[in-house]
Amino acid sequence: MTTSLGDLGAALVQWRRDLHARPEPGFCEFRTASSLVDELERFGYEVVYGVDAMDPGAAHLVPEERVAAWHRHAQERGVPAERLERMSGGATAVVAELRCGSGPTVAFRFDIDALPLQEADESSHKPAREGYASRNPGWMHACGHDGHMAIGLGVAATLAACSDDLGGTVRFLFQPAEEGALGGAAAIAARGFVDDVDYLLCCHLGLEARETGHVVCRTDFMATSKYRATFAGRGAHVVNSPQDGRNALLAAAAAALALHAIAPTSEGWFSLNVGVLNAGTEQGVTPASATIDLGFWTETSAAQEYLRDRVHSVIEGTARVWGVGFDIRLIGEAPSCMQSENLAAVLRRVAARLPAVTRIDDYALCRAGEDATVLIKRVADHGGQGVYTLVGSALADGHHSPRFDFDEGALSIGVDLLAGAARELLRVGNGE
Ligand SMILES: [Zn+2]
Repeated sequence: MTTSLGDLGAALVQWRRDLHARPEPGFCEFRTASSLVDELERFGYEVVYGVDAMDPGAAHLVPEERVAAWHRHAQERGVPAERLERMSGGATAVVAELRCGSGPTVAFRFDIDALPLQEADESSHKPAREGYASRNPGWMHACGHDGHMAIGLGVAATLAACSDDLGGTVRFLFQPAEEGALGGAAAIAARGFVDDVDYLLCCHLGLEARETGHVVCRTDFMATSKYRATFAGRGAHVVNSPQDGRNALLAAAAAALALHAIAPTSEGWFSLNVGVLNAGTEQGVTPASATIDLGFWTETSAAQEYLRDRVHSVIEGTARVWGVGFDIRLIGEAPSCMQSENLAAVLRRVAARLPAVTRIDDYALCRAGEDATVLIKRVADHGGQGVYTLVGSALADGHHSPRFDFDEGALSIGVDLLAGAARELLRVGNGE
């Protein structure tokens, strides 16, 4: 397929709006993945998806009931049965490849999931005003992943159109379930798709780059771990036989307080939050069960290790004090990792040549987790290089807000930047 640049600008907006209107949760991106497969096959890529593209067993948490409901939702909206069959169980990753002779392998990673938010419907919100707001109540692309997918398709189309000039392989990883670090990246890595990658490029719109035309070549993220702890007590009549009860609610509440009181560490900054506490059935019965979900974000792997240890001790110790059973389960994780200065320098060179780029920063630190680090670390462990870059965009409101919206003008900058970097890395005769 040949796409003139003018056509591509319109296609980017069209892809973005189509995907924006149909947001799906992590590991439930059935319709999203199916439309990515359609486009990538149309560009001439070899595409694998579903269980061929990821190992659901390697994910930390696949929310099974939700997956089944969204599977039906996609079926009702006409996603072909054969596609859904291969994605069953929440295997919604898509991997596309184009081999252009011998040379290095350049991979790109884009996230595809949405957030549990009801999108604003006021006329000041552009997607609502222009008719492409979410059609899936309670879910919204409020972090720009719709834009990331559009950029990914744009880079794929651009590189397919100039494949004769490239020496090597390009591979696109469209990853489910970035939010919550539920294991979408780990599930793709488990199929070996990054083990032979020489260069891995990842990107995000906005974040620390909140003007269109601003590029940050390299961005570090916090390491993060997320746990679900359950406490198992014993129900009893609170007046007749209170001594027989074992109060799981109080155990969970005491654990929540103790978790928030974990001492700081000289190993690095961290933030911990108990974000969910569910317990009990009614006021006359000792609460027999309780669940808490907690997450922490740390500056260093050493601080992550410290917190893992302290969190386990607090849960176990509190359970013992209250005489209840406990279980602690990892439901999300991403490391912090070193990124390639060399790739950051390539991006800087490419960005400097783009007329639409008005500001280039070498580095930013983002105080959030991002499981692209799972893939970047795996690439580095196998001798390759990875980098995470920010494509700046003016934002209508902050990330994860019902009024979040980015500037669609940033999409073509993202495409020019990433496709330009790939062309540089895969230039025939490139001695790197
Ligand atoms: Zn995001």
